[in-house]
Amino acid sequence: MAIIEPTQPPAGSRRLYRLRSPATLEPAGEFEVATADDVQSAVESARKAQPGWAELDFDERARYMHRALRALVERQDEVVDVVLRETGKARSEAIAMEVLAGCDSLSFYARRTAEILRTRKRRMHGLQGLTRQLRIVYQPLGVVGIITPWNQPFLLALNASVQALMAGNAVLLKPSELAPYSGKLVGDLFEAAGLPKGVLSVLLGDGETGAALAVAGVDKISFTGSVSVGRKVAETCARQLIPCTLALGGKDPMIVCADANLDRAVNGALSGAFANGGQLCWGTKRVYVVDEVYEEFTRRVVEKVAALRQGAEGEFDIGAVCSQEQLEGVKSQVEDATHKGARVLAGGRRNPDLPGLFYEPTVMVDVSHEMEVMREETFGPVLPIMRVRDEEEAIRLANDTRFGLQGSVWTRDKRKGFEIAERLETGGVCVNEVAITYGALDAPFGGRKESGLGQVNSEIGLRGNCHALPVIVSRFGGKRVDRGYPYRRKDEDSLQRYIRLVWGSWLGRWLG
Ligand code: NAD
Repeated sequence: MAIIEPTQPPAGSRRLYRLRSPATLEPAGEFEVATADDVQSAVESARKAQPGWAELDFDERARYMHRALRALVERQDEVVDVVLRETGKARSEAIAMEVLAGCDSLSFYARRTAEILRTRKRRMHGLQGLTRQLRIVYQPLGVVGIITPWNQPFLLALNASVQALMAGNAVLLKPSELAPYSGKLVGDLFEAAGLPKGVLSVLLGDGETGAALAVAGVDKISFTGSVSVGRKVAETCARQLIPCTLALGGKDPMIVCADANLDRAVNGALSGAFANGGQLCWGTKRVYVVDEVYEEFTRRVVEKVAALRQGAEGEFDIGAVCSQEQLEGVKSQVEDATHKGARVLAGGRRNPDLPGLFYEPTVMVDVSHEMEVMREETFGPVLPIMRVRDEEEAIRLANDTRFGLQGSVWTRDKRKGFEIAERLETGGVCVNEVAITYGALDAPFGGRKESGLGQVNSEIGLRGNCHALPVIVSRFGGKRVDRGYPYRRKDEDSLQRYIRLVWGSWLGRWLG
């Protein structure tokens, strides 16, 4: 993300931020912070635009997504450049994790929404099915506020917006102040797609703008970011009795069993821990390796880490850390661990050869749960590896955390992998894969414990942007079939006979 320098505004004007690239430290633009008044007028425009948008059928909405998709394909270099300037991540990551994943999201929801959100008939159970029909109508909520972080600044803003829009909502998007132009590109693409004015607006700003959006009278907040801010957003939404989804931080475990394919597991550990400069919320943050393969696994990890290239330009594997504050956080976790007995086998310091904010890819062993690096979220390229007796100990330690975002299990035995996955107290698990769940749009994505609330993506995420309205229709038209008032002893007796018939015997329960 970009380094930001707030400036003191003259009285009456908006606050201004100047950005610098974390990789090159060069200027990366500036922007004015949207005020609470700006937010309010954006909400009013969204309210006016939303009914017309909701009237369009799914195919019509999908046509806008396809146009935005074409614009994204054509302007992919621009997207990559803006993301690189603001985040300092590796170019391959900007292409794969932002552009490719963004294309997939636009095309997936354009194709799938009609099926997921069409009004459907449901058979009612038991005798009710004889007298009533049930239909579920997925109604848009209205105006959805989307607040996003800097670490996948284009994708997280785009993917949440696509789902809210396809469900018929208007969107107010507040990207991170640390990568504002990556978020603004989402607005630019939809503008190029001809989206009606007011249906999606991007508000550039910081935490104050986000806080103003959360109280501006929207119908839902979709928040992605830290646990501490997520908690505030949840409190604000609770006070207004509006729903929110919270996609928050993580401390994802990786469990390596004795029968794992070690080459795959080592590659998984490296990309899980170092992709996005180690700043993936669903990246691997701690590894538990069973005793039999611990030495070999660790040896291969260290060997491979030595070949990783860190840089700011040209071809490289590992990019910058987002900010000075973030860099200090990583340094402090590594120091805390070494003071408590951990050994650094690779990295362990700021990269002295690069001017920007680079922390060397770091491998640590002899770590324990007394150390911050095993307990707190690490947002930097640090891979702590812990030796465990067996899989039981690995599962116990993997669950010994206040987070529960994702996790991975590595074994050649798929059945065992599945059984271990089922025992992890986390939002999602991969077996012999790592950090792919958010990009696997058929899968619901979300955290448990302090890692979040609710799920995004798949039919669950899409429906989370709707109210599921049950409409129950009597099969007998206007004819009265129930007696209603006055209550009569005779009818009560009939009801009790019915209860005994349906639930009072084995046969009745079976038929029921
Ligand atoms: P952050 O919580 O500091 O900021 C996120 C967004 O919230 C920004 O747009 C910010 O301006 C806004 N904000 C700040 N204060 C606010 C307030 N009081 N009210 C409303 N909005 C406010 O997070 P960050 O540093 O940008 O991002 C890093 C964090 O995000 C990490 O913890 C990471 O794990 C998490 N994250 C989670 C997911 C996920 O899907 N679970 C994905 C990406 C990042």
